[in-house]
Amino acid sequence: MKQILIALAALSLAACSTKPPLTLQAFECGEVEVRDISLFSPGIDEGMKKNLVDSCYLIQHPKGNLIWDTGITDAVGEEGVEVFGGKLKLTVTNPLSDQLAAINIKPSDIQFMGISHFHGDHTGNANLFNTAQLFIQQAEYDAAFGPTPESFGFNADSYNKIDKTKITVLNGDHDVFGDGSVIIKPAPGHTPGHQMLLVNLEKEGPIMLSGDLYHFTKNREHKRVPSFNFDKEQTLQSMESIEEFVKETDAKLWIQHDKEQNATIKHSPYSYQ
Ligand SMILES: [Zn+2]
Repeated sequence: MKQILIALAALSLAACSTKPPLTLQAFECGEVEVRDISLFSPGIDEGMKKNLVDSCYLIQHPKGNLIWDTGITDAVGEEGVEVFGGKLKLTVTNPLSDQLAAINIKPSDIQFMGISHFHGDHTGNANLFNTAQLFIQQAEYDAAFGPTPESFGFNADSYNKIDKTKITVLNGDHDVFGDGSVIIKPAPGHTPGHQMLLVNLEKEGPIMLSGDLYHFTKNREHKRVPSFNFDKEQTLQSMESIEEFVKETDAKLWIQHDKEQNATIKHSPYSYQ
């Protein structure tokens, strides 16, 4: 009897250790040359240039794979494209599809897609993942799939292949896998339904992905709101509530566009656990 119990205990231990862990991988999904950074911080550093990065992330959970943001479209390539009346230049040196292929992930292996907001540098490769279930806040849905997406600065062509029957419209927090490990949190203001992602990693602890709540650390420190944000007051409220949440949960805030912070983050194939 005793031997059977020991064998059973060993079996359950083995089962525990083979359970795939929750992992997070970061990808660089393009670069943004900002020719006048005061676009992001009105009245400050006028005429100064600054480079930003564009980030995407893959979260792997036993129940499926989630892509968080899809970057600048791979089609832009190294030659790049000027947008925003030439104030920004976007380039892509390492296509997201190639980076995923390098870790043996096909777009059809992605069952879930979270997009922080529908600006083109976040929806760029959304059409690649047209078999995934999309999570989007109601206000973002109304803007992106309503009659005038361009009036919100969205490019509907970049996401027109998303399977509309697989869209899950949210009104607030959403626990993606139902176990508290990956939570979508609304943080409106940059766009009507801007949202962020909390990933509760076992070893690394909680990591919060910023979307465009901030574009770089200095703006976080001074709570500066880009001139093109949808709603300044709402943005400031989101900054306040997210800062409170980050403090409470002791989460690290990864600022997706911050080139300097990004240089300190290990990228795919490295997996944060
Ligand atoms: Zn952005």
